[in-house]
Amino acid sequence: MVPCGVCGTPIDPSTANFDKAGRQVCRSCEARGVIVEGDMKATNSIWVSSLIIGISGLVSWSCFNPFGIVSIITVFSAIGWIVSANRLGPEYRRQLGGKLTAGWVMVIAALGIHLVVLAIMGLALVGWAVH
Ligand SMILES: [Zn+2]
Repeated sequence: MVPCGVCGTPIDPSTANFDKAGRQVCRSCEARGVIVEGDMKATNSIWVSSLIIGISGLVSWSCFNPFGIVSIITVFSAIGWIVSANRLGPEYRRQLGGKLTAGWVMVIAALGIHLVVLAIMGLALVGWAVH
């Protein structure tokens, strides 16, 4: 028997797995490690998707935007991001810190710009239909 590298519980070295740091760990510590890793992936994906929405939103609004498709996609992904950002628990918010604030700014900016683009397109369409 060897002690678990994290909590010290005696474990059988022939069945114990190693964590990322190369320590032999018990099952519960291993499971916890996997959960922490999953958490980091979740928080990173929130950050990465806010970057994608923000950058693509800011780049695309004046460029290639046939029939406002890019705007509609941006608005939907921004709303989806806001919903998942609101579902984040306090520990995720702590992990993200300033990134979450930056994400909010980018997503709201992209959402605002594309709502304006869609409004202008809508008005133009109404104007065209009336005349
Ligand atoms: Zn342990």
